[in-house]
Amino acid sequence: MAIDLHLHSTASDGVLTPKELVEKAVSLDLRAIAITDHDSVEGIEIALEEGKLKGIEIIPAVELSSGLDCRDIHFLGYYIDHKNKDFCRQLAELRKYRTERASKMVELLQQNNIKIPFEEVLGEARNGSISRAHVAKVMVNRGYIDSIEEAFEKYIGREGPCFVEKYYFSPKKVIEIIINTGGIAVLAHPGLSEVDEYIPRFIDYGIKGIEVMHGEHTEEQSEYYLKLAKRYNLTPTGGSDYHGLKRSKRGRKIGAINVPDHFLDEIKKIRIS
Ligand code: AMP
Ligand code: MN
Ligand code: MN
Ligand code: MN
Repeated sequence: MAIDLHLHSTASDGVLTPKELVEKAVSLDLRAIAITDHDSVEGIEIALEEGKLKGIEIIPAVELSSGLDCRDIHFLGYYIDHKNKDFCRQLAELRKYRTERASKMVELLQQNNIKIPFEEVLGEARNGSISRAHVAKVMVNRGYIDSIEEAFEKYIGREGPCFVEKYYFSPKKVIEIIINTGGIAVLAHPGLSEVDEYIPRFIDYGIKGIEVMHGEHTEEQSEYYLKLAKRYNLTPTGGSDYHGLKRSKRGRKIGAINVPDHFLDEIKKIRIS
């Protein structure tokens, strides 16, 4: 049976609620899923409850952003304690910065003749962790552009005129935060971040795994990172990075990349040891 260890819900920039995500995973016959919202664990408890009802294993998780040399680096934290007060406070702080950043991007868009009300961005985010995907969605809704991709290409991508850098912690700090709350830190989608040269450093900081299978990795990338995982003695993980966003190439459908369930068994072994 397959698993999917990288999914976004409405607690961040996913389209499905945590409950709907669980239902969808059940309908696809998945054995286990991890909810990995950006800077949020708000969807975890509901997903755990729903998982219990529907008989599917839910792994509490999170995706945290970091950066080095103007490159986005994301880390996944599996089995974090989603009830840890300090951790939740840190996440709330990150979300506050995200809201401020979105408002700055809306201002920059105004200066570029894209007039979208900030309230609509807030509405799109439904109290969740606000990302550029929400800003892009409002731009599409208001007819300024045809697709989320176009928003990133023309305006809010890293090179775009309306891009605002996100507040983020250093890789060392992010990994430390995950470990301090009982989590297993994993380097997310290395094929997108292209930070291979930093992997030994991240291992020193405490990562235990690397996301070898990902919705946007090619077969070649998956094979390459699987070899790299073996060489560095890291646990391979995998997930679709499903967001449910229409007309965005981000991620694939839930379960679409057939992540083998022994990946999860390996993560569990680390957890016990
Ligand atoms: P943020 O975390 O606010 O920087 O927003 C990045 C999010 O936008 C990612 O997590 C993706 O879900 C989404 N996204 C959708 N399309 C793209 C794209 N073409 N490039 C980058 N991010 C994208
Ligand atoms: Mn996202
Ligand atoms: Mn990511
Ligand atoms: Mn993700």
